[in-house]
Amino acid sequence: MATLKPCPMCGEDVSLNAAACPHCGEKLRRTAKSKSHGEGDATGGLIPYKNPMALTAYYLSIASLIPCFFFLGAVSVVLGIMGLKRAKQTPAIKGQVHAWIGIILGGGCFLLWGGLFATGVIAAISSGR
Ligand SMILES: [Zn+2]
Repeated sequence: MATLKPCPMCGEDVSLNAAACPHCGEKLRRTAKSKSHGEGDATGGLIPYKNPMALTAYYLSIASLIPCFFFLGAVSVVLGIMGLKRAKQTPAIKGQVHAWIGIILGGGCFLLWGGLFATGVIAAISSGR
């Protein structure tokens, strides 16, 4: 009795031991085996899953591009510095680039929006008496 599972590409039912999908030709990998193999780090280089602080800093710094989330920029600077320290201690976890983007972009947005906000408040106070 052959066990079937849907193909991740076309969704057709494919035999579990098939090497490739007979419908669309997508190569089917045995997920359980290829894990914990040295090759898993190839994807870890692009997105640093092992360095969640650097990754969070990166996403928060992008969110801080929106003016009302400017305070997230400060958080992303802190997380970025922490992520950078971790990446220096354990180079294998990577994430330096994401951490730096978090520090620079987050810090820049925080200063920009925070500065605009502060000047707006000061202007409002000084003009409206
Ligand atoms: Zn398929």
